[in-house]
Amino acid sequence: MAVILDGKKLRDKIFANLKAKTDSMPVKPTLAVILAGDNPSSIIYVNNKKKCAEKLGINSTVITYSSDVKESELLNKVNELNNNKNVTAILVQLPLPEHINQFNIIDAIAPEKDVDGLTTYNSGKLFSGEKPFVYPCTPKGIMLLLDEYGIEIEGKHAVVIGRSNLVGKPVAQMLLNRNATVTMCHSKTKNLSDITKTADILISAVGKKIIGENMLKNNCVVIDVGIFRDDRGKISGDVDFEAASKIASYITPVPGGVGPMTIASLMLNTVELAANS
Ligand code: NAP
Repeated sequence: MAVILDGKKLRDKIFANLKAKTDSMPVKPTLAVILAGDNPSSIIYVNNKKKCAEKLGINSTVITYSSDVKESELLNKVNELNNNKNVTAILVQLPLPEHINQFNIIDAIAPEKDVDGLTTYNSGKLFSGEKPFVYPCTPKGIMLLLDEYGIEIEGKHAVVIGRSNLVGKPVAQMLLNRNATVTMCHSKTKNLSDITKTADILISAVGKKIIGENMLKNNCVVIDVGIFRDDRGKISGDVDFEAASKIASYITPVPGGVGPMTIASLMLNTVELAANS
């Protein structure tokens, strides 16, 4: 049976170290979160982030807008936060309402306060193999988890399913920067299982149940990023966990794998930006 890559356990270890670090910081980090609209998942995520920050001695403030907010209002707020010396990290909760150009808002964040690492500056650094101010949270969390369990990356065939700017593209680049041979797949990929069967490390970031046992190589490492509610309302991942656990050498559960690592990385990034400010 596969070893479980325990994101909760590693998150708690990271939090214990972070608390010790923030306790000794003369100026506490301050995370400002912009939340626009009434997406129920976004509201839960933002509340969790705020609670988590407070537990770790990080100041946090949430600025909320209704779903008909104008793009110019959000841009003005981002600029104001950029110029506020007390704010060390800025996060724009995604998705934004449909009429807002998400890219414009994200890219207005000062790179040295861009806690998600999604601005053109920070992603450009990542894609050039240079060090950004911080790495995007979910990909960073995945890499921390692989490293915690001593999983070798160099020379391995990593298959990434999903090509979002948030997860798929940056995690593929981070694996490439660590000398993996990377294949990217998406909704137009043909014969997906022929490709996944060759993966030493399989990362699925889709949001649908697409990975079954006949799609895996023996002893592969499976990282399931997907999180959604199935037909019965139960939280589920992209991978058939029961079946995959019998084939893989390591696997992340959903929940309890990548999710806790995303929040751990957000807190790490917040403290890192404050320490370098
Ligand atoms: P996204 O922007 O919706 O991207 C989904 C990707 O999946 C797209 O690239 C899409 O391809 C691809 N795809 C869709 N159907 C496919 C299929 N049948 N075969 C192969 N590829 C397919 O999503 P995201 O923001 O990256 O998030 C992906 C999942 O991860 C979601 O469930 C999300 O909730 C979850 N997530 C979890 C965390 C966490 O902390 N655990 C963090 C972020 C996201 P095209 O590009 O061709 O459309």
